[in-house]
This record gives sequence, C-alpha cells and structure tokens, in this order.
Amino acid sequence: MKDDCIFCKIAKGKIPSATIYEDSHFRVLLDVNPASKGHCLIIPKEHFDNIYDLDGETAGKLFSLATCIARAMKDALHCDGLNVVQNNGEIAGQTVMHFHLHLIPRYEGDQVQLTWTPHESDQSELEAICQAIRKAI
Ligand code: 5GP
Ligand code: ZN
Repeated sequence: MKDDCIFCKIAKGKIPSATIYEDSHFRVLLDVNPASKGHCLIIPKEHFDNIYDLDGETAGKLFSLATCIARAMKDALHCDGLNVVQNNGEIAGQTVMHFHLHLIPRYEGDQVQLTWTPHESDQSELEAICQAIRKAI
C-alpha cells in the first residue's frame, strides 16, 4: 500500500467507490468520470505503478477477471462493443499511477474517441523493430 496513492485507498476500501466486484486480489468499480455509461476499472489491491511493474500471475488473474466482467457488462448494459484500455506513463494518458484496466462499453453514436493516425511502414523497418524487441524479451 502506497500512502499517497488514491487507488490503493479505493482498492482497500478506505475510500468508498461504486464497487461491482471484490475479491482478495482485485476491486472492480465504476469510473467516477466515465467515458460512457458503465465504464469500469479493474484495480489490483496490491500497488503496481504500471504494466512494467505487474507480475505475470497477477496479470493472468486480472485478465481472466476482465473476460468475466466484460461478459457481465455486455449482458447488463446491452452495449454494442467494448474497449479494453490500459495506459502506462503520462504520455500514454496515465493519470493515476496505480495499474488499472479500463473496460469501456461502446454504444452506437457515442462520442468516445480512442483513435490514432495509421502511418506507412516498410518491411525493413518492421523487421528491425521485430529484432530489437525480440532480443529484449
Ligand atoms: P488513467 O487516465 O490513469 O488511465 O485513468 C484513471 C481513471 O481513474 C480516469 O478515468 C478517472 O476518471 C478515474 N478516477 C480518478 N480518480 C478516481 C476516483 O477517485 N474514483 C473513481 N471511481 N475513479 C477515479
Ligand atoms: Zn496504489
């Protein structure tokens, strides 16, 4: 638990939240400033800053839980689609530095924007990037 972390406090129940599900590892709650109706967050109770910090076992459990919550959201909210979003670092839009997964229900005609401009690439560039990342695994 990080004393100055709001999501540690929410995860541990020290700050009230609109909680959908809770177990010993995770809390699933509604985002207080939702992108759309039913925008959920999955928060580990243990503090991890970001994806680089998260251990594989917790990540596996978290994504398994995400599949269950996503199906429940689809059934309950009758959304037309759903985005899974997870931001790491300020440049990527992370504002709360405690790992969390966004589940954002999508509805026909909603104003949610999660877009980027696709760039051209060439084969040699793609191969060089593949090699660099592969070597770093
Ligand atoms: P990020 O931008 O870090 O990926 O997402 C942080 C999310 O946490 C935002 O969507 C924001 O609305 C939400 N959030 C920030 N503070 C609180 C809070 O106190 N309670 C809840 N339920 N959500 C919060
Ligand atoms: Zn925290």
